[in-house]
Formats: sequence, C-alpha cells, structure tokens
Amino acid sequence: MDFSIYEIGEWIPQIGAYKHECFLCNEPFVGRKNKKYCSEKCKSHFNNHKAQRINHQVKEEVTRLKKSQLIFGRICKVPGKVYTMTKSQLIELGYNKSVPTRIIKDDDFHGDWNLVGGYAYKIIENGNKFEIRKL
Ligand SMILES: [Zn+2]
Repeated sequence: MDFSIYEIGEWIPQIGAYKHECFLCNEPFVGRKNKKYCSEKCKSHFNNHKAQRINHQVKEEVTRLKKSQLIFGRICKVPGKVYTMTKSQLIELGYNKSVPTRIIKDDDFHGDWNLVGGYAYKIIENGNKFEIRKL
C-alpha cells in the first residue's frame, strides 16, 4: 500500500493508523498516534544513546565540582573566613564557572552565596572578584 499521498501526522483511514517519520532514521512508517520510532531497533538505539549523553554530562559536572572544591580548598584554609580572589586568579587556578551550584541565603554573611560542596562563593564587583569561604 502506498502511503506517500499522506502527510506526516495524518490519519490513514484504510488501515486505521497515523503516518509518522522515525525520530532516529527519518524513515516514514505507520502506527498509533504517539509512536515515534519505526522499529524497536531505532527506539532502543535512540534511548541507549540518550542515556550515554546524560551519563557523560553528569560525569563532566562531577569532575568540575570536584575540581572546584580542590581549588577552593587550596584557597580557604580557615572555616568561616572570607577569602577574596580575582576572577583571573581563579581561572589561572583552573576554576570553571560552569559548576553546578545551589544558592543559599546566609544573613551572617550578607546575601546569596553559591554552594559548591563544602564551600560557598559570592560574585562581587560585577563578576571581577569572588568571595569564597569554607562552610
Ligand atoms: Zn527508524
């Protein structure tokens, strides 16, 4: 049967199904309304690679987090004491600002701090300086 006259997403009454285009291989196929893949092979291939991409992303974030904690650990020796560093000093030490953080409010230390493991930092002077402290 030739389904080429039908558009992607269109209902095909003769067979009671919709025309789709496979999410992975782009081949046209027919099936129920929410079907995305032409075959189990395409479906599992796409999902396996999705899992790999997510794992890779998580590993990179953990690496950046560990590295940031090492850098902050070299700077902050006394817990609670606030250390000030310039952005270029931190970059020189290998700091990568795309570290996943959580923002905490801390009234004792005036304002919002970004939490990185056992350390917290605050960006000051329009991003040119960082205040860092060990929690
Ligand atoms: Zn396919």
